[in-house]
Amino acid sequence: MTLTPDPWPLPPGLYVHIPFCLRKCAYCDFFSITDLSLVSTWLAALKKEAAVYQNRFGFFDTLCLGGGTPSLLEAEQLSCLFDILRRHFAFSPDSEVTLEANPDDLTPDKLGLYRDLGINRLSLGVQSFNDQELAFLGRRHTARQTVEALDAARAAGFANLSLDLIYGLPGQSLEDWRKTLEQALAFHPEHLSCYQLTYEPGTPLGRKKARGEVAAATEEEEREFFLFTSRFLERRGYLHYEISNFAQLGKAGNTPNHQAINNYESFNRKPKTENRKPSYSRHNRKYWRHVPYLGLGPGAHSFRDGVRWWNVASVPQYCQSLARGEAPVADREILSPGQIRLEALYLGLRTREGAPLELLRQTPGWEKTLTNLQKSGLVEVRRDRAIPTLEGFLLADSLPLCFMDGGLGEDDMFLQKRSAPGPWPLAPDP
Ligand code: SF4
Repeated sequence: MTLTPDPWPLPPGLYVHIPFCLRKCAYCDFFSITDLSLVSTWLAALKKEAAVYQNRFGFFDTLCLGGGTPSLLEAEQLSCLFDILRRHFAFSPDSEVTLEANPDDLTPDKLGLYRDLGINRLSLGVQSFNDQELAFLGRRHTARQTVEALDAARAAGFANLSLDLIYGLPGQSLEDWRKTLEQALAFHPEHLSCYQLTYEPGTPLGRKKARGEVAAATEEEEREFFLFTSRFLERRGYLHYEISNFAQLGKAGNTPNHQAINNYESFNRKPKTENRKPSYSRHNRKYWRHVPYLGLGPGAHSFRDGVRWWNVASVPQYCQSLARGEAPVADREILSPGQIRLEALYLGLRTREGAPLELLRQTPGWEKTLTNLQKSGLVEVRRDRAIPTLEGFLLADSLPLCFMDGGLGEDDMFLQKRSAPGPWPLAPDP
């Protein structure tokens, strides 16, 4: 594969997929296995894969260790992984270094090691502060273990914590969800990712749903949870900057900002407060902005110069390919300018940055479509960008289609939902 210098002004990101879990959660369809005896073979293969890409991506300013469950790695294994990465790649001194963790893995010893290795951001798979909900999701930790892990992480000096939470469980009320959010906010996390529970085919929960043993949230309930979450968190100083992601505004001195926020990116304009820099996920923003990224490990995706490629999602095959001296790449796609434009629209309209108007201008009838979207309260135009409103976020997968079909008339203005592909296949989320 020919790699040419990238034209992007932002440095690329490095993702490492650690495909091991102690056991599978009931809702999870991310690629991971529970055979931990393969960790050392995987690590040896990863060293070979790192050598393939050495000197080919310049320096990185983000490193994300995702999975799977990276916090499962023993101290020696994690140190070995960092040794491999440091020997093969260059990182800027202010890199964001994230490790995804399960709350019950976080002992003081491990947290100390993480600090020593330069990890400065922890992304915790909290999901809920309700033990019954955690059991339903098949998580292996309890709410108490989460509280202890968060206390221990703060005590160890971690100043950048992101919590993953899931809403829309069967029987869960908005009040139940509010309690989980409040317990999360008690730790003043710098970042929150809030996901609607989905029932993926092939997962235990997906099968239960197919057998009629659980009822998924209705569209109306999903909408209520989504709007509640956005308003609740924005009122408490979190910027809803991507459909599922919220960044705390930077703190003034040591005082947590619990007031409503007011800046151009916020849905919630009053009352006025100082606009301070939000704690975005620097790494995930690269995925949403078409910044190049390299993914190492089985199932990991990479993107550069309009080419996306991804590794085989099998630990044995990944290891065997590299042992034979072959790249473990399953396939790749070269995106045409039209596909890149469509992706940029999809990705941009899922964030509060929105999409530049110059992208829309390439569609005949774009002005009429944009005017109709504005009239429907789904999009605003600011600084030469089309920016989704909160209502627009609810239809974010449909919005780009309006600019790909030659535009829509006022009559079909979607206040009826249009079918749309799901999110683009990026590196797996925690
Ligand atoms: S949700 Fe996370 S911890 Fe659970 S099985 Fe999936 S990757 Fe593993």
